[in-house]
Amino acid sequence: MDNLFFNEEHTMLVNMVRDFANTEIAPITREMDEKCEIPKEIIAQMAELGLMGIPVPGEYGGAGMDTVAYAAAVMELAKVDASVAITMAAHTSLGTLPIVIAGTEEQKQAYLPKLASGAVIGAFGLTEPEAGSDAGSTKTSAELDGDEYVVNGGKIFITNSGLAGLLTLTANIIENGENLGIGALIVDTDNPGLNIGPKEQKMGWRASDTRQLFFENMRVPKENLLGHPTQGFKTFLKTLTGGRISVAALSCGTAEGAYQQALQYATERKAFGKEIHHFQAVGFKLADMATEIEAAKLLTFHAAWMKDQGMDVHKQAAMAKLFASEAAMRITTEAIQVHGGYGYVKEYEVERFFRDAKVLEIGEGTSEVQRMIIARELVKTFSKAA
Ligand SMILES: Cc1cc2nc3c(=O)[nH]c(=O)nc-3n(C[C@H](O)[C@H](O)[C@H](O)COP(=O)(O)OP(=O)(O)OC[C@H]3O[C@@H](n4cnc5c(N)ncnc54)[C@H](O)[C@@H]3O)c2cc1C
Repeated sequence: MDNLFFNEEHTMLVNMVRDFANTEIAPITREMDEKCEIPKEIIAQMAELGLMGIPVPGEYGGAGMDTVAYAAAVMELAKVDASVAITMAAHTSLGTLPIVIAGTEEQKQAYLPKLASGAVIGAFGLTEPEAGSDAGSTKTSAELDGDEYVVNGGKIFITNSGLAGLLTLTANIIENGENLGIGALIVDTDNPGLNIGPKEQKMGWRASDTRQLFFENMRVPKENLLGHPTQGFKTFLKTLTGGRISVAALSCGTAEGAYQQALQYATERKAFGKEIHHFQAVGFKLADMATEIEAAKLLTFHAAWMKDQGMDVHKQAAMAKLFASEAAMRITTEAIQVHGGYGYVKEYEVERFFRDAKVLEIGEGTSEVQRMIIARELVKTFSKAA
């Protein structure tokens, strides 16, 4: 099915990422999971291969490729290691694309080349202790004082915080005592008003870097405001829509990685004198897993393709994210079942895929939020047609 959306360039990219993931990442996945760290060399190698700026226009130093290419690369990385995949994806779709979407020409020229080359890693700070699904309840404020905004507040669960050189964060923009609404600011992470918390100890995505951020009278130059002061909310909603395609791709990869291990195990493990795939109960699990992966990939690449055509992908991105993430949870659970007791211990890596899958139903909008978006879009279309 991949050929439906892939041209020759996509296929070349997929082969390159697959080769890199199998030779460089696969041998160290267990070590990264245990140490909760991705070696700097892996990120440097991804940068060298051009993987840190796939959808960034060529004029700003990116590969200038489309969303289908980007999703395909994320998927290939996630088949082997979801922590590496989310590090690349958060850098690209969350850390870099807001600047592509809403940056001024000066901001694009100043920041995109270093992000696209991977010289600087990006992160995106939206979630707060009291503003997750309800992102409109953002409390962080940025009050204009002369030529600088003074930012106070904080963010939680921010991917890449400990690696990032650049951060895009959302805050209430206050000018002349008036709250103009939620805007977005670009912040250098060496800003003295920024404090970065210790690494979160997570169930999955353990090697990816997730931390809390604290802003205390953090002074940010006025020109670092991303786009129009009152358009920040729109920018990050757009960013999240694109991000959902990322998470859908990550989900497909995570599911496929676990499925491949289950398939291999089912052809090797013997019970009652034969390989367990001969038992219909096991064969049917494999059949269901493979079918769901195909369906999830179709939804994901279709949403990516629609985005590349400039179409509204609100509904399709939410559908792809919802279906693929829930499929990943089902598939990784069944992959453990196929492994029996060995699935529950670290000797086989399938338990890592299971741990990595859960967050896919939570990050960049929970499953409940995706259903809300889809339902809203369905009613909107129906009302328009009526
Ligand atoms: C590993 C990890 C990495 C992350 N990386 C980032 C990042 O880089 N940047 C960033 O900004 N954020 C990041 N997040 C945050 C993530 O996007 C949020 O955790 C997520 O959006 C959910 O918000 P919350 O945790 O506040 O849950 P809540 O919003 O408090 O939700 C709790 C429960 O209530 C449900 N719920 C809430 N509102 C409704 C409603 N109206 N209807 C029905 N159900 C509802 C939710 O679905 C959920 O089940 C990350 C999170 C994790 C775990």
